Amino acid sequence: MSADLNTDVRYIKGIGETRAKSLEKLGITTLGELVSYFPRAYEDRSVIVPIRELIPGESACVLGTVATQPRLSRIRRGLDIVRLAIIDEHDTMAVTYFNQSYMKDQLKVGESYYFYGRVGGKPGAPELTNPVAEKESAAGTLTGRIVPVYRLAAGIPRNFMQRAVRQGLDACGDTLPDPLPKRVVAEHGLARARYAYENIHFPKSPGDLDIARRRFIFEELFVLSCAMAGMKAGRDRKNALSFSLRDPESFFGGLPFRPTSAQRRAVEDAFRDMSGEHPMSRLVQGDVGSGKTVVAAACCWLAAKNGHQAAFMAPTEILAQQHYKTLSEMLEPLGLHVALLTGGMKAAEKRRTQEAISGGLADVVVGTHALLSEKTEFHSLALVVADEQHRFGVQQRAALSQKGKSPHVLVMSATPIPRTLALLIYGELDVSIIDELPPGRKPVRTFAVGEEMRERINAFIRRLVAEGRQVFVICPMVDENEENPQDDVKSVTEYSAWLRKEVFPELRIASLHGKMKPREKAEIMDAFAAGETDLLVSTTVVEVGVDVPNAALIVVENADRFGLSQLHQLRGRVCRGEHESYCVLFSSHGGEVSRQRLEAMCKTNDGFKIAEEDLRLRGPGDFFGSRQHGLPEMRVANFATDVNILNEARQAAQELMAGDPELKDPENAALRLRVRKIVAENEDTLN
Ligand code: ADP
Ligand code: MG
Repeated sequence: MSADLNTDVRYIKGIGETRAKSLEKLGITTLGELVSYFPRAYEDRSVIVPIRELIPGESACVLGTVATQPRLSRIRRGLDIVRLAIIDEHDTMAVTYFNQSYMKDQLKVGESYYFYGRVGGKPGAPELTNPVAEKESAAGTLTGRIVPVYRLAAGIPRNFMQRAVRQGLDACGDTLPDPLPKRVVAEHGLARARYAYENIHFPKSPGDLDIARRRFIFEELFVLSCAMAGMKAGRDRKNALSFSLRDPESFFGGLPFRPTSAQRRAVEDAFRDMSGEHPMSRLVQGDVGSGKTVVAAACCWLAAKNGHQAAFMAPTEILAQQHYKTLSEMLEPLGLHVALLTGGMKAAEKRRTQEAISGGLADVVVGTHALLSEKTEFHSLALVVADEQHRFGVQQRAALSQKGKSPHVLVMSATPIPRTLALLIYGELDVSIIDELPPGRKPVRTFAVGEEMRERINAFIRRLVAEGRQVFVICPMVDENEENPQDDVKSVTEYSAWLRKEVFPELRIASLHGKMKPREKAEIMDAFAAGETDLLVSTTVVEVGVDVPNAALIVVENADRFGLSQLHQLRGRVCRGEHESYCVLFSSHGGEVSRQRLEAMCKTNDGFKIAEEDLRLRGPGDFFGSRQHGLPEMRVANFATDVNILNEARQAAQELMAGDPELKDPENAALRLRVRKIVAENEDTLN
């Protein structure tokens, strides 16, 4: 029987019903999926160590001849031991197998084997326990080479996985499809598919592994770029409600300040998009406090002036309320009706608002995910604005878009992705960058301090409050975790109680965290915004967007537990008014990296620079660790470290898509399949 990529994995020797089930959990049902299941790491077993040089505690590969007949003894029920001795050129050593009685017959006296395992025993008297063994004369799959390490599931022993992949490659290696056009492979000096699959699993050398990896990184990013280009083309084929242009000055004129030129540029970009025939898909990126809301408001205004509705989605109830207030102030004087719709509203109130939306009375609707509820119907939704998109399920954004007929989409993000990456990552999304802060903004003066400064900082808090200012205190946790008390990690509940009782009994202190009910949170936030409390002890729920111009100081406890970009967002809470403002970062743990990170915060107020520093210090794992950024999930490629390949692959993809936008050329059939797959897998993310 000959096998191909679609052949069931049970084709492979040793895979029956049970193992097939376990493999299915890893997403492997066919040979094609098996050979595409890449290792998560590698172990170098290519170096053969003489017995006399073995170091107890380290793993090593030994080439030895079986010197004594393996002896099986049954110690007790459930414990079998096989013992034997092996020799190499100079020395002999003991090998023991626990509960692997079959080894007694597998290892033959006088034959040579590679053994790989962790060395036990003492210096001078090393031992191997349960080592992997392979006959010297048989090609080394598990020993004597660089060996792949796979992510496993229950019921799948490690050695079994390696052998299965080996068999899979042998069975269908000649039928591997190559999504890359031959010309691209040649032009970019990439490895052939067969070589790449062989060496990503069983690299002959580290160099071969690099070549294989580079090919798959390129392949993955190339397919992604083709998908993005295809989707852009798809958007361009859709028809949107095309707005007739209005002079933005009549909107700007109503503002209490002059827009910055960066704000004007972003508004112009968006207006141009929305007057076109195709739906806008624009990302506005700007540091905290750069004034993105004005840009969104201008777009809502244009939609309303054209007789349509705009929906403005915020990630939290607090933010929705704040935006509602801001947008009402900007737009109601211009004759527009702004409505608020959140999950926390009373049923009757909600119903009334929904009626206003479906009847077309509301021009602009600000809300949380309640906007997505089936009960919310729009009269004529033509624009969707999503604030802080990294906090939004992309699925949610897509759901909202479906409420209108291909509405224009404007996404606002303060996630300071390093400039070099932003354009590439967001691919075919159009981007406006607001790279200018409103005039007169003073940088937040930032200090990284230790416990020895506690008294001085407390005195500073008292002084600021006496001057009429307000203060944020941020803690990493909500409650003390009783099962696992972490002495020095502060929690909102305990620390705010302590501050009230022991430190600032004279101050008005409130606390806020994500476990509270939306209504409760909103009340506490409103009271703080109205100046009714002096000190707000909170988790990072205040991280995004919340605006209290009178707050002049933010103190972050256990600052080393936060990401730099997160600290930057937090600091953004206090650069909003005309007062000099401060950020104090407390930390007691100080590794070198953690110290450098906090110092970076003190040196600059530029979110983009901080993001770059974060990336440099912590590596891409942390920066891109979560999927919050809304990027598609990559198997091999890494957006942070593979920028050069990304650039190359993207260019190649654009060239190809220009010539064959729908991938109809039979030569591109394999590519077309892969593009479809990646689009299906990332439907939410890529739109
Ligand atoms: P972000 O980009 O973080 O969402 P906001 O839109 O909330 O920023 O704006 C931050 C603050 O700056 C708000 O109080 C807003 O009124 C103010 N602001 C925005 N644009 C200007 C401007 N051009 N001049 C002065 N103040 C501005
Ligand atoms: Mg904002």
